[in-house]
Amino acid sequence: MSAPDFLPFTRPSIDEETIDAVAAVLRSGWITSGPKVRAFEEALSQHCGGRPVRAFNSGTATLETALRLAGIGRGDEVLTTPLTWVATANVILEVGATPVFVDVDPATRNIDLDRVEAALSPRTRAIIPVDLAGLPVDRERLYAIAEGHKLRVIEDAAQSLGASWRGRPIGSSFGGGRDFVSFSFHANKNLTTAEGGALVLANDVDPALCERLRLQGVRRFPDGGMDVDVLGGKFNLTDIAAAIGLGQLKHLDAFTARRREVARRYFERFDALALPGLDLPPRDFANCNWHMFQPLLPAGTDRGAFIAAMKERGIGVGVHYPALHLFSLYRRMGFKDGDFPRAEDIGRRTITLPLFPAMADDDVTRVCAALAETLARASSSGR
Ligand SMILES: *Cc1c(COP(=O)(O)O)cnc(C)c1O
Repeated sequence: MSAPDFLPFTRPSIDEETIDAVAAVLRSGWITSGPKVRAFEEALSQHCGGRPVRAFNSGTATLETALRLAGIGRGDEVLTTPLTWVATANVILEVGATPVFVDVDPATRNIDLDRVEAALSPRTRAIIPVDLAGLPVDRERLYAIAEGHKLRVIEDAAQSLGASWRGRPIGSSFGGGRDFVSFSFHANKNLTTAEGGALVLANDVDPALCERLRLQGVRRFPDGGMDVDVLGGKFNLTDIAAAIGLGQLKHLDAFTARRREVARRYFERFDALALPGLDLPPRDFANCNWHMFQPLLPAGTDRGAFIAAMKERGIGVGVHYPALHLFSLYRRMGFKDGDFPRAEDIGRRTITLPLFPAMADDDVTRVCAALAETLARASSSGR
């Protein structure tokens, strides 16, 4: 028997119909922002309870634009988690504001809502909660705190499209319509456009201003003239990308259902193996979309050696993410080891195992067996 194919930690599922739709856009003569983008925005809006949605070329651009629409800039503080993709914090710096990190709840690995109030200052203007791995932050508690302290909320839902909170999809409003929700469609996300993003708008902002911030601040007039009255970015999505998104959206429910099945299978296998020191992720099959399956390695495991050994066995393992306040850029701002011990511990031990809709049940068995064997060797080689 030949060696099984390499199993990456994720892989997009793009059907032939979508590939044909992309080819049709390429043949149409209109390849950048146009009718496909508008159709994609409309379809996303339906998913989000009819709220206004604008498509962007990344989930970073959506977060930055949401901060600008909320009027956040120099002198303002924005609360977020240190255990996220660095984009979440970088955008706060990008608009000239100050990120204030709050350590995570070890049970959910999301921002610890019990610690938010202690992090508030008179300058705190907003909070960016992140649904890590697709597990939603408790929306009732989040908005109770936000309302109590007049904070703007920008949900970083880059990983949680398809997830829900108490039966309502992430993207619908949990904050009385004053909240923003940001999605990413990067290649690794549950729904992809290769690169892309979408912003669900708060109902007190002008969608036309959002569109100007998306494209150079340009306002066009019927006589062919134009004006620029705000500084906008170059953040528009192409129709090529939107055609991929439209094709993906048809499968979103099936993708989420399959991801939940694969996650359940991981728990079954790991429960049977009962590996000492391996901490499994929170078991949530109602809300979470299982964007990633992330056990924490036993403390002291050499993660680099573990990843290399898994690769030798044909299995891709990712790391999402080291605690971001320990990156050089953030250390230069004064953050240091020990500031957020829970995020640091998780960030050192976390691994992302393969989980994507096209995975076979047998792949899970193979990953778990390889992981058990690799950990057994690491401990017997006397670390
Ligand atoms: C992917 C991601 C982003 C950024 O999205 P891009 O489309 O890559 O710009 C932001 N936050 C989180 C939590 C993400 O996972």
